[in-house]
Amino acid sequence: MPIYEYRCRKCHRRVSIFIRSFGAVESAEPKCTFCGHDQLERLVSRVAVRKSEESRLDSLADDASLGDLDENDPKSMARWMRKMAAEAGEDMGDEFDEVIDRMEAGQSFEDIEQSMPDVGPPAGDSDF
Ligand SMILES: [Zn+2]
Repeated sequence: MPIYEYRCRKCHRRVSIFIRSFGAVESAEPKCTFCGHDQLERLVSRVAVRKSEESRLDSLADDASLGDLDENDPKSMARWMRKMAAEAGEDMGDEFDEVIDRMEAGQSFEDIEQSMPDVGPPAGDSDF
């Protein structure tokens, strides 16, 4: 679940707000959890998604930099894609997670594409 950071325009405290989904963030009307004021300023575009996963990535990054990325090794690619997604601060969705899981299980991207016809370039109506 995405967490957005805001600063209250009234009491100037930093407020962390859970937003149900990425689509909901633009229409969200968060209120300050300290004073209840509803004029909050969004602090950063970066979103903390699944903190546990990010810290896992951080520990991975410690001993496995991108220097050893092997494009022919699905596991190596999966690790790289997870890192990129984490740094982008985007929730890539269940499908992305499934692809990564399959890559980590050793499946080639061709195999994954064949079994998941939806995987591929967005059709043009992407939210991104
Ligand atoms: Zn406030």
